[in-house]
Amino acid sequence: MTIKYLKDVSVDGKKVLLRVDYNVPYDKQMSITDDTRITATVPTIQHCIDRKATIILVSHLGRPKGKPVPEMSLKPVARKLTEVLKREVKFIETPLGEKLKAEIDALPAGSIVLLENIRFYPGEEKNDKELGKQLASLCDVYVDDAFAAAHRGHSSNDAITQYVKECAAGFLLQDEIEYFKKAMEKPERPLGAIIGGAKVSSKLEALNNIIPKVNFIIIGGGMAFTFLKAKGMEVGKSILEEELVGTAKDIMKNAESKGVELLLPVDVVIAKAFENESPRQVVPVDKIPADSIGLDIGPESVKLFSKKIKSAKTVIWNGPMGAFEMPNFAAGTNQIAETIANSALLSIVGGGDSVTAVNQAGVSEKISYISTGGGAFLELLEGKKLPAIVALDK
Ligand code: AMP
Repeated sequence: MTIKYLKDVSVDGKKVLLRVDYNVPYDKQMSITDDTRITATVPTIQHCIDRKATIILVSHLGRPKGKPVPEMSLKPVARKLTEVLKREVKFIETPLGEKLKAEIDALPAGSIVLLENIRFYPGEEKNDKELGKQLASLCDVYVDDAFAAAHRGHSSNDAITQYVKECAAGFLLQDEIEYFKKAMEKPERPLGAIIGGAKVSSKLEALNNIIPKVNFIIIGGGMAFTFLKAKGMEVGKSILEEELVGTAKDIMKNAESKGVELLLPVDVVIAKAFENESPRQVVPVDKIPADSIGLDIGPESVKLFSKKIKSAKTVIWNGPMGAFEMPNFAAGTNQIAETIANSALLSIVGGGDSVTAVNQAGVSEKISYISTGGGAFLELLEGKKLPAIVALDK
């Protein structure tokens, strides 16, 4: 695949349509509670500002399902971006069409505008060609910096590429692509994957795809219990996908046949209820009482996993080691985050919960790369080609 990066194309004085992912969380007062996705696009915007380009920002927010929903307007985002960039970002409500085109054409060179939520149009999620064409007609160059939306082929990140003269990946998308390649295609070995989270079912494809690529896999979180059950252990009331016990056995066999070490917890923190205040106890994995729930990995598992992580040159992490939203069951996840952060290795963390976990552990500065994608990152782990990235390959 040969896609162009922003650094390879000229945007000098041109009209650039920049697809960003400003699908940011809001509170009830409509104020943005986390602006990570906004600040992550600043290098690309600044590059265009420095080259006197006119920037037309396009994003989605929430799931308005093809019609205008006032609470999902991007207006507050334009205000926030104005603050972040310290220059005016004009919010344009005019719908796509000749009037908007005239408005954009009349903008003074170097303007920055943000269009209204692109998912207010029914064609967007259908990857409607006409909508892609209309968007393309607004610009000279199309730049995609919306990694978190790249697993969806929609008009504003897929169809549009058929109608623009030039398209490229912005700096954020470039980083996402290159760090992932560095880790999974040409890694410094040993390469390890740390996979956690609630269920095996949601990580099944990822597990199957990474087995032939990695040297070891660490499995933690709720999904570990289906594997422990597959090894003949009783897991009490822990989260279990009974119908996947056979699949878990196959995964373990597959890993073994490929010489991939698969590490499971050796002890767990249990409680009688799924509640932070429920009294805790640490037990070996083969001694989980019938009335208890495993909610975190135990200290011996942390030691075992940490030793393995320290032996690696590259690790990729997706999914927490326990029900880490409850502080009393967050120690395992936090300690694994600290081990990764304090080891001399290339570390890539992706998926909403694991990103929250490294932030919660206060170690995000020491992670080599934190992906901005949840679903998109998981689909890369699953070995899928992301439609928006494929579309850039012209
Ligand atoms: P995922 O989105 O699949 O990465 O799963 C993340 C969720 O898994 C988080 O909300 C965690 O609370 C949950 N989780 C992790 N470990 C456990 C566990 N042992 N029991 C129940 N839920 C868990």
